[in-house]
Amino acid sequence: MSFSSTVKNELCRIESAGKCCQFSELAAALCFNGMASVVANSEPVIRITTENAAFARKIYSSIKKLCDISPEVTIRKSRKLKKHVSYMLFITPTLGSSKLLKYTGVTYVPTAEEQPMELVVADKNRFKHQCCRKAFLRGAFLAGGSISDPEKTYHLELTSRTPEQAQELSRILGTFKLKARIIKRKGSYVTYLKEGENIVDFLNIIGAHTALMELENVRILKGMRNTVNRIVNCETANLEKTVNASMRQVENIRYIAEKIGFDKLPDNLRDIAEIRLEYNDNNLVELGQLLSPPLGKSGVNHRLRKLDEIAEKHREQADKSRFIQ
Ligand SMILES: [Zn+2]
Repeated sequence: MSFSSTVKNELCRIESAGKCCQFSELAAALCFNGMASVVANSEPVIRITTENAAFARKIYSSIKKLCDISPEVTIRKSRKLKKHVSYMLFITPTLGSSKLLKYTGVTYVPTAEEQPMELVVADKNRFKHQCCRKAFLRGAFLAGGSISDPEKTYHLELTSRTPEQAQELSRILGTFKLKARIIKRKGSYVTYLKEGENIVDFLNIIGAHTALMELENVRILKGMRNTVNRIVNCETANLEKTVNASMRQVENIRYIAEKIGFDKLPDNLRDIAEIRLEYNDNNLVELGQLLSPPLGKSGVNHRLRKLDEIAEKHREQADKSRFIQ
């Protein structure tokens, strides 16, 4: 199951405590999943469409409980994709479409010539209470929201059909200190949030606490994996450096042994040269401990550099004399 479905299933089981909030959630369902058709100045026919069966049931029972209206239900299966099912709820004038709009504070633009018409929240001050704003966002997520699998990326979006709706969502998110952005995509407007922290806040606001815990666990695991990777990368880099340095030193020491002779070296350099040859894999600290008396890291480094220099100088001289000959 997708993470979106997990969140939505959890949200469908939530029942807002206050009536005010239940109406707000229903208002969101109407705005984001609903349309109104009006024939010749009569009262509107309202259609609510969703592909989520649990949400369809939730809307149906809310309308019944809050407005005492039993919508007509139609289920449409796509002919091409058999699994693709749409649930449609119709509220005709006879059933009480005007009452539904009045109770939820939702309206349509009466002058609009296009049919069917968009539904919008009639009174912008309707969401004075924080509880109602939360419920509206929950409804908006159920109606047109989706969230990425947190294992992959952090992305949450709410789809609207008009720029005004998208801006209204962005404004409400702003009242919870969430900065949303809006993009246009294939004729719809998407209000979206990025970053794990914002998405955690959003899930908290809409009351998806189980999904929130799941997301937090993924975030913690991801964070831990990143730290481990960073340490491993850092250690790998250090190891590579140590190995390369050791190879260069051993090569130079062998050169000295062959072309100059260890007996020409001062005692302190000969000691470190012999130990370096014997202990290829040891780092500088470990090499220093093998000397008597033991020597610190920088002392060992200094002597090995001296050996490098001796070998380099000898090679240069050899090159020159060959050139002269
Ligand atoms: Zn409320």
